[in-house]
Amino acid sequence: MIISGKDLAAELKKEMAADVVKYTAQYGRAPHLVVILVGNDPASVSYVTGKAKDSLEVGFKNTTIRKDESISEDELVALIEELNADKEVDGVLVQLPLPKHISEDRIIATISKEKDVDGFHPLNVAALWQKQECVLPCTPKGVIKLLQRAGVEIAGKRAVVIGRSNIVGLPVSKLLLDHNATVTMCHSRTQNLAEIAREADILVVAIGKPKFVTADMVGEGAAVIDVGVNRDPETGKLCGDVDFEACKEKASVITPVPGGCGPMTRCCLMENTIECYLNQMNK
Ligand code: NAP
Repeated sequence: MIISGKDLAAELKKEMAADVVKYTAQYGRAPHLVVILVGNDPASVSYVTGKAKDSLEVGFKNTTIRKDESISEDELVALIEELNADKEVDGVLVQLPLPKHISEDRIIATISKEKDVDGFHPLNVAALWQKQECVLPCTPKGVIKLLQRAGVEIAGKRAVVIGRSNIVGLPVSKLLLDHNATVTMCHSRTQNLAEIAREADILVVAIGKPKFVTADMVGEGAAVIDVGVNRDPETGKLCGDVDFEACKEKASVITPVPGGCGPMTRCCLMENTIECYLNQMNK
């Protein structure tokens, strides 16, 4: 079974749009997401455009602030502080990566925890690991929703996560653990990766290498979630970290790229913005 993140995201956004109409009537204004883009990196421009499109679809007010690459770190901090103080702004997101002269750590920590719709603020990350209330990071949250939509039981299952980045691999592992899977985290130094991957009931891959996971790495009947977004070196088309055509023969469920985790990441961003908006309105 191919799990379409595109279809699930469309369905969830439709439900959110109906909720937003009600909230707007109740609270007197729609949720407002502000996205800051520094520079002109084509991938970042495309991500920001997608976020604006989804925001409009669910009925948010969306503001995209574009800044030249020459902006200083202090100027960017000042802009974020202004947005933090603005009661009409519910979510603030700074598109990563940033130019080298700007510290991403400082910028992420400047966004107020209450408006951190990406779930990257150190206090949100700490809250996640301490099982406290927090904004969940969008891609990992989307991975869990895809598994749930496919009817995959997570509790008690063996989950293998390949990749341990702060934004995907680590938080995905934590969420799977919170759903009572037994989790093995793999990385570039893991020995016998294929053997470990084959044992997985649930295999999540987030490494950034085109078609890295081959059919011999997938156990019969495994649920395979491919987070990777790469260019196929042969065709130049978008592809995942998993060799989809080969692995779909062995997996019980599998996500495609494009149309899998990407749309769900943006959908969870919309959900997080509503969460921050409701928290602000009900303060
Ligand atoms: P990252 O920060 O570069 O981390 C890559 C991880 O993969 C690292 O933990 C690395 O191990 C591991 N790795 C690299 N080569 C490996 C190998 N040969 N065997 C096993 N592990 C290996 O990447 P990321 O930010 O997590 O992103 C991963 C992929 O997901 C990228 O393609 C990115 O574009 C995509 N992504 C998609 C979405 C979405 O919305 N769909 C969101 C975010 C990212 P070490 O820790 O040992 O170096």
